[in-house]
Amino acid sequence: IIELKDVRKSYVTGDLETPVLKGIDIKLNKADFIVILGPSGSGKTTFLNIISGLDKATEGDVFVLGSNLSLLKDSHLTKFRRWHVGFIFQQYNLLTNLTAKENAEVGENLSRTKNPDMTIDDIFETIGMKDQMNKYPHQMSGGQQQRVSIARALAKNPDILFADEPTGALDEEMGRKVLEILVQVNKRYKTTVIVVTHNPNIAKIGNTVIHIRNGLIDEVIKNDHPADPSTIDWS
Ligand code: ATP
Repeated sequence: IIELKDVRKSYVTGDLETPVLKGIDIKLNKADFIVILGPSGSGKTTFLNIISGLDKATEGDVFVLGSNLSLLKDSHLTKFRRWHVGFIFQQYNLLTNLTAKENAEVGENLSRTKNPDMTIDDIFETIGMKDQMNKYPHQMSGGQQQRVSIARALAKNPDILFADEPTGALDEEMGRKVLEILVQVNKRYKTTVIVVTHNPNIAKIGNTVIHIRNGLIDEVIKNDHPADPSTIDWS
């Protein structure tokens, strides 16, 4: 579903060019639960932004769902993001004047394809909030708001769901629940899920774990028996 060939990314500030990704080659499979793990500053978010079409590589080819994102015009990149991928960030970014259901409908309105197995009702069932669809963000806990942001991303019927430190703002109990839902989404809808984390324990829930260190892939570990989020050590 994703293939990168010698991908490099540098940020330029004034006269200073800082290389952040230094030659990434990787192939990722459809319907996998992929975790990108690495210490702070290693380039995880930069990597995620490039494979999700939020940012462009400086060099190299980035094939996602058959398109080379490096060659797409900005307007096509916008369409790619709108139609094919969903995002979850550390901050939930819900619209405060809309209910949970209405926030999810914002996602649904962006979708090009409808999945009859993925109605708003079904999605709220999956996130365990069917009885709370009419609540506004200020009436929900952080964990519930993050679950609604998953609903919003899913309502687009995305091919790939990207999550950058999705539990970063949550305590252990709420964080586990959010991870459980991501695992469930991957199993139930066969959505490819790609999670960025700096926490090696969280990485155990992936069936493919990409270790990034200093802008390069250190190793890729396949895990046939991923951990259940309820069993991982959170510390
Ligand atoms: P963290 O876990 O702390 O978020 P990360 O592994 O996700 O780290 P990145 O956010 O990809 O790492 O950043 C990698 C490096 O690139 C860092 O040194 C950061 O300062 C630098 N960097 C990131 N974004 C920019 C930018 N827009 N302009 C300049 N430098 C940047």
